Amino acid sequence: MSRSNSSSSIWAPRIATIAGIPIRLHFTFVLFLAWLAAAANQQKQDAEGIALIPAIFFCVLLHELGHALVAKRFGIKTRDITLYPIGGVAMIEGRPKPKEEFWIAVAGPAVNVVIAGVITLVLLATGSDLPKFDLGLGRQGFIRDLVIANAFIVVFNMVPAFPMDGGRVLRAVLAMLMPNPKATQIAGVLGQLLAMAFGIAGVFTGNILWMVIALFVFLGAGQEVSATLAFSLVEHRRVRDAMLTQFRTIAHGETLNTAWRMLLDGNQDDFPVVYGSETLGLLTKGNLYAASAAGRADDYVADHIIRDFRRLLPDAPLEVALEMFSGQDRTAILVMDGDQLVGMLTPENLGEFMMREQTLARSAQDPTRG
Ligand SMILES: [Zn+2]
Repeated sequence: MSRSNSSSSIWAPRIATIAGIPIRLHFTFVLFLAWLAAAANQQKQDAEGIALIPAIFFCVLLHELGHALVAKRFGIKTRDITLYPIGGVAMIEGRPKPKEEFWIAVAGPAVNVVIAGVITLVLLATGSDLPKFDLGLGRQGFIRDLVIANAFIVVFNMVPAFPMDGGRVLRAVLAMLMPNPKATQIAGVLGQLLAMAFGIAGVFTGNILWMVIALFVFLGAGQEVSATLAFSLVEHRRVRDAMLTQFRTIAHGETLNTAWRMLLDGNQDDFPVVYGSETLGLLTKGNLYAASAAGRADDYVADHIIRDFRRLLPDAPLEVALEMFSGQDRTAILVMDGDQLVGMLTPENLGEFMMREQTLARSAQDPTRG
């Protein structure tokens, strides 16, 4: 049995891989395209109008690739790029340093500046009319509309609010002047204030799209702030500082019935499976459920373990563990010093460690609270 691949998602199937980065299409995007096609069919829209939508999303994809490729230059991996009806998201692994974040954030809008610039130059060279920027979004033909769309993508993304690129640029600049959590908090609050103003404007003008975007920005800003605060709590800490050292292991020759007994006896969900002093793998609660549901509770533990279990060195930075638990895979991480099992990390005990760090940090700031 192998662990399910945490990066796969049934809601956003992979449609391509570019430079080693999976490109995913969210199912709401497919619905959106179907709705557009139906609307276009009903209104007898021109072919240019229909072609514009995929063309714009191709520019959005190039925008996200701009982020991803600059991140790659800094040695930062992009987990995947997902296209949603309201835009794209490049999931970058780990926390870039402020200078890196600045360039990664700027790279996306820069791509759209280049696209709009090149088309404008071609229009100039061929003596064609240049696109006119009017807020009414009147149609000016495919190529000029594409310039306007790219200009809109730049302006929209450079709004200084998380999770927009402008919010990241602002945080990166602030983080060069002050500690990262404070920079994030300032950028986050500003982002939420902007989102509220935008949402209120949406309510008064009856613009539903504005309200949706405002909500998306507001939630995104909150998420970004809490994620950064979480990282600040584990920064400069090692895996050994937070790991469990008292836990139970199970021998590979035991049956799943024994594992059930151990699960019920304590509050441990995942058990390292051992053969003498050797660690063979991990038996998770999920595996135990699945095997028992299939009527195999009398099987040996060894038949149902994850052999390519997640492992970390005791001296590994703790933020790596936080990153690993931020995906869909919540199974325990075994802490291995060479071949020797020295500890274990679970999302719960990492959460408790962070809670303690936060409490200590608070009481250090405010001694009257004890
Ligand atoms: Zn972007």
